[in-house]
Amino acid sequence: MIHYLTLKSRERTELIDITARVEELIAAAHTTSGCCDVFVLHTTAGITVNEGADPAVKRDISTCLDRLVPDAHYFTHAEGNSAAHVKASMIGVSQRLLIDKGKLLLGTWQALYLCEFDGPRERRVAVRICSAKLLQQEKH
Ligand code: ZN
Repeated sequence: MIHYLTLKSRERTELIDITARVEELIAAAHTTSGCCDVFVLHTTAGITVNEGADPAVKRDISTCLDRLVPDAHYFTHAEGNSAAHVKASMIGVSQRLLIDKGKLLLGTWQALYLCEFDGPRERRVAVRICSAKLLQQEKH
């Protein structure tokens, strides 16, 4: 079964911690062990895992990506947000994570992020939780 998260970004570029939101879905599915696919349904946003402890890290990632991919005169996309499309492809649209003891299996400092590159906007993220038990239920 696929679940959907709806999030509102507030900045043009920002990383939004979605770890707790995904873990709420895992808890609601009563899944203790398995895996989880997290996929953003947009072309100017991405999904990544990085440090969740010091908020300076997510700001530095945003700043660095903005400097690596500035708005450029040679972009031809009429909507004018090619830099956001490029950054989304650099980061990627999805992550597969492991579930252990009912939580995402993450390192001490890791968090799961939606990366906004063309905000502020409303964003949708699809989450599919997989476990042996859930796969058995889907067969019936
Ligand atoms: Zn566009």
